[in-house]
Amino acid sequence: MTRRGGDDPRSIPSEPALRVIMRRLREIMAEPGDGQARLDKIVVQISGLMVAEVCSIYLKRQDGSLELFATEGLNREAVHNTRMKRGEGLVGRCAELSHPVNESDAQHHPAFSYRPETGEEVYHSLLAVPILRGGTVLGVLVVQNRTRREYSDEDVEVLQTTAMVIAEHLGSGAVAGAGLGAEQERPISSLIKGEPISDGIALGHIVLHEPRVVVTELLSSDPEAELVRLDKAVEELRTGLDDMLEQEAVSKAGEHREVLETYRMFANDRGWVRRMREAVSEGLTAEAAVERVQNATRARMLRQNDPYWRERLRDLDDLSDRLLRIVAGRLYAGKSNADLPNDTILVARTMGPAELLDYDRSRLRGLVIEDGSGQSHVAIVAKALGIAAIGQAARVIESVQAGDPAIVDAQSGELHLRPTNEVISAYSDKVRLQARRQSQYRQLRAKPAVTKDGTPIGMHINAGLIVDMPSLKDAGADGIGLFRTELQFMIASTFPRLDRQTQFYAQVLEEADGRPVMFRSLDIGGDKTLPYMEQPREDNPALGWRGIRISLDRPSVLRGQFRALLRAAAGRELSVMIPMISTVGEFEAARQLFDREREFSRKHGYPEPASVRLGAMIEVPSVLFELDALLARADFVSIGSNDLLQYLYAADRANPRVSGRYDVLAPAGLRALKAIADACRRRNVPATVCGEIAGRPLEAMALLGIGFRSLSMAPASIGPVKAMVLSLDLGRLTEFVGGELETIVEGSLREPLRRFAEGDSIEI
Ligand code: PEP
Ligand code: MG
Repeated sequence: MTRRGGDDPRSIPSEPALRVIMRRLREIMAEPGDGQARLDKIVVQISGLMVAEVCSIYLKRQDGSLELFATEGLNREAVHNTRMKRGEGLVGRCAELSHPVNESDAQHHPAFSYRPETGEEVYHSLLAVPILRGGTVLGVLVVQNRTRREYSDEDVEVLQTTAMVIAEHLGSGAVAGAGLGAEQERPISSLIKGEPISDGIALGHIVLHEPRVVVTELLSSDPEAELVRLDKAVEELRTGLDDMLEQEAVSKAGEHREVLETYRMFANDRGWVRRMREAVSEGLTAEAAVERVQNATRARMLRQNDPYWRERLRDLDDLSDRLLRIVAGRLYAGKSNADLPNDTILVARTMGPAELLDYDRSRLRGLVIEDGSGQSHVAIVAKALGIAAIGQAARVIESVQAGDPAIVDAQSGELHLRPTNEVISAYSDKVRLQARRQSQYRQLRAKPAVTKDGTPIGMHINAGLIVDMPSLKDAGADGIGLFRTELQFMIASTFPRLDRQTQFYAQVLEEADGRPVMFRSLDIGGDKTLPYMEQPREDNPALGWRGIRISLDRPSVLRGQFRALLRAAAGRELSVMIPMISTVGEFEAARQLFDREREFSRKHGYPEPASVRLGAMIEVPSVLFELDALLARADFVSIGSNDLLQYLYAADRANPRVSGRYDVLAPAGLRALKAIADACRRRNVPATVCGEIAGRPLEAMALLGIGFRSLSMAPASIGPVKAMVLSLDLGRLTEFVGGELETIVEGSLREPLRRFAEGDSIEI
């Protein structure tokens, strides 16, 4: 639609179109006249320059509705008469979502709201962009055409840039007079619904992760000087990233490094820098140029379905924020940990894992992310740090202000903003209770986990990142019963090479400080995908290409991991276990690869581990019928009850409709687990249960009752489970569970076990 410049069809809007628009807008702002007159002129100019039959400006009223303030092309009588309720129509949708709406056949869109007074029935295509200032939506700028067409990325950029200029002048009151475009009155208290991504409850005060830089100067009179400022800022961005990568703290393998390397790759991306330089040469200030290209990136990100590209565009978006802060001289503003309140509830539009790790953990209580999901990398880190966190919190940024009191309820997924006294006191009680429990559990830390009748129980944690490692000592655990190596692969932007993996595993062993670590080889597939690895679309991913199946089909990946683990464990004990074993043959094949790697290491003179054990995970029911053969070959086993029970009951663990349908304490599951415990004892093969049930006191008690003596769980579960162990008479429990399992015909052992625990004063 806009006339293009240059040969590259993907190039940004033609210089003439944008430059002319910029010049005309500047002139309009400088002309005498009131705000309404300026808006009227703006719509005429834009419709002409963008070759659009309609150009309209809607501005937000205090009640959140959008009022048509100016139009070229629609019926004039509609001005100040047409109002869209909050979220109504495509215009309302654009304001609600705060991103462009681009529809080639707007009238057939389900969200379209027909307003006869406007006469818009003859226009089919519609492009709407939000008029944004400092993250707040002030209105919507719209163009429409008769023909059915999708507007190009260039059109979107032109309109977004125009919206930036309008926003600037709305803020200064130069357009439309006072009372509009001002922030809406904020309600006293409000509730924002999101999704829990890391369990917990937190009371505290809001800190904005990145206080947004509000770009106020959009147009420059000296493009040369702006170009120098931009170039200098880009240079500073690059050297800053290089310095961070060289720092001692991130020079080892680890999650920081992966993220920073992706940032560095983008910072050196010539296309990105070129687009910003072009925007400056069109007359924008350096800040406005960064923001304009960032807006375009954001629009692309929101359209993106492919999770890999979405994540990458998000990285680029984060980097743009950083660059904006550099240009504006605000890089270090508000980032000092010393300024953080002790009860920080961090609110971010988007956040990478490394950024969360930058904060002083002891001051963080909660985290709220506008678009984070439970599978996101930052969620993995939040869980590892034990921070209550919710994601998918729509419009949280525009609803909060720094310093607002708030409560994060990451059990229900709710954020209570500026809560009432009643809500605060209800939650305070909950939190006090939790804190009292935690302090009781801390007192148990140094106590060995031995039952009242003298049986020691192995208490291990599940881990997967470097940030998990301090939990090992903090929780007073015996070791790591499940180290999910895939988490490290999942947060990396490219496949971690041998030396990176070796460094990482060595760091894990170093920090484990002699406590055993059971590394699980890469368990991807199902719900765990690597952003850089192509995963076929499967109808039934849980039954598909995952775990050892991928590893055996791509043996070089598994061998590389074995090689890295063997090198990392030089002089130390090494335990590796293989996930998703369905047949003894698969375990044998994995062992052969493992032995080959050991042989290779030996031949090449690498120092060997002090001891090596290869184990199998029992999580596919078929191996229950090959237990003797498997146990004859495995040095140890670990029971992945999450998968074992989902396969046993044919109930998808990720589908809430069915996942809770079969009680894990029902006889079928417990009998299957008992068969494993019995076989392991007969064959003297060490066995640990590492699925979620091992971390719940009542379920953990049942596991001990059927014969398991070693459990692995989330670090936060160690306290409650240890309290149960210390108050348990295992002899009595074993007898009770044995009897119940023999006689129970239907239902579950849950109630009988609860009654038993109550009668025996067991802490569950
Ligand atoms: C399990 O299946 O129980 C298990 C521990 O593995 P994951 O949850 O990682 O699949
Ligand atoms: Mg599993």
